[in-house]
Amino acid sequence: MPSHSSPPLSFAAEVPALLAELGVDAARYTGGALKARSPITGEIIAEVSGTGEAEAGAAIARAHAAFLEWRLVPAPRRGELVRLLGEELRAHKERLGRLVSIEVGKITSEGFGEVQEMIDICDFAVGLSRQLYGLTIATERPEHRMQETWHPLGVTGIISAFNFPVAVWSWNAALALVAGNAIVWKPSEKTPLTALATDALLDRALRRFKAEGGSAPDGLSAVLIGGRNVGEVLVDHPQVPLVSATGSTAMGRAVGPRVAARFGRTILELGGNNAAIVTPTADFDLTLRGVVFAAMGTAGQRCTTLRRLFVHDSVYDSFVPRLRKAYESVPVGNPLEEGNLVGPLIDRAAFEAQQAALAEARAAGASVTGGGREDAGFGPDAYYVRPALVEIAEQAGPVEKETFAPILYVIRYSDFDAVLDLHNAVPQGLSSSIFTNDVREAETFLSARGSDCGIANVNIGPSGAEIGGAFGGEKETGGGRESGSDAWKAYMRRATNTINYGRTLPLAQGVKFDV
Ligand code: NAD
Repeated sequence: MPSHSSPPLSFAAEVPALLAELGVDAARYTGGALKARSPITGEIIAEVSGTGEAEAGAAIARAHAAFLEWRLVPAPRRGELVRLLGEELRAHKERLGRLVSIEVGKITSEGFGEVQEMIDICDFAVGLSRQLYGLTIATERPEHRMQETWHPLGVTGIISAFNFPVAVWSWNAALALVAGNAIVWKPSEKTPLTALATDALLDRALRRFKAEGGSAPDGLSAVLIGGRNVGEVLVDHPQVPLVSATGSTAMGRAVGPRVAARFGRTILELGGNNAAIVTPTADFDLTLRGVVFAAMGTAGQRCTTLRRLFVHDSVYDSFVPRLRKAYESVPVGNPLEEGNLVGPLIDRAAFEAQQAALAEARAAGASVTGGGREDAGFGPDAYYVRPALVEIAEQAGPVEKETFAPILYVIRYSDFDAVLDLHNAVPQGLSSSIFTNDVREAETFLSARGSDCGIANVNIGPSGAEIGGAFGGEKETGGGRESGSDAWKAYMRRATNTINYGRTLPLAQGVKFDV
């Protein structure tokens, strides 16, 4: 932690230097109306020019025109563009990762990890560009063949949250581009700089692609800077057949019906209220590490953050004191300094939401360890808190909501079937874990009567997904899936084809219609 007499930390010189190295034009982040700030110090680090609504509409129309050409480029060639994007990300991993840390307040390894995730999805998408497989289907008619083909869909609108300011874009962008779509991105208004930097890296990749003889139309990708009103242009635009929106459940509740009203498609990736169950046979050293990372990492600001912990009565009094100790001692402070594991909350509103949830829990009789504001030496505009461990008797009130801050509610249980019911009795359904060495418990948790979440893990915490699996959750988490497995299908349109290579025209289901 910096001493109060050392020169104050400021990113005033570093941020413009990083942006310049990443290829962002200075006009985009000087003198604009949108103030970008670093939660590490609370200072304003850039003034970014916003995108007007008419300008946003024009960018979407350009993207649609670009899509009409891009869909004709063979998919493996489209993969080559994504391969080059991956190369740019590899070359600039440290710079972009550092900018993520400065703009969001992530510890250094997480800033780099976010860029690594972008690289990983690019690699995945490059392979995928040769594997957009359809089926061959048996037909009941002689001398006929049926098949399923996958075609590009159109402009993919991407709305993203502050907490994974660039990885979420890449999950969508890499798949959408190999699928043959154009992309238009509305990043969080809290993280415009990492968005501009990412856009500049894609731009470099596009230039290299064209220099190699690749054909990529202008307007294939656009970034719209601004808040909800700019996002709404994407949501309502008839030339955006797919809106992939990541953020709070409140946002999804607004966006989902609007896109549906024009028969557009959505991929909704919304809030989580993730739980883990600690059973009597758990490996407690491993469990402690898993719980601590999942609950406190990224200062509790992951959609997959562990927020509810059910601990079996027989091990509660041996396990929970160890957890309390970790909460009392975890280093909180400047996330760029080695050794600190918990950085700042994104802003004052996040701090106030955390304090309000803790007050509600205390009023319900909970016992709270930590949770107070910490002075990291950066003054009143930087919001550092000690993560809170809240031991509470019942799953009610604040426990049923997602408060986007490091609060872990701990509840005792004694019956396995009852705890499964409790686990599933919240409106959200993103990620979940069980810590056990009992195969019956593990398999039951993963079975149809187990966790109702999109992600269910055994002996690892709920946070920290890899790109190979489909990512997303059920219920108020929105039901969307992104990233690996067959999530790519959501970015394409499916056509069923029947081909008659005979000389007669038999009808299906034995229908006769001879004229
Ligand atoms: P937020 O909902 O405040 O904002 C997310 C994005 O939606 C921003 O770009 C915002 O400008 C835009 N937006 C908000 N209302 C809109 C509207 N009506 N129309 C169009 N755009 C609109 O979320 P946040 O505070 O940035 O992020 C935190 C939330 O995101 C948490 O709830 C977290 O769980 C969730 N999240 C979910 C996932 C996931 O994959 N499930 C991943 C990351 C974050």
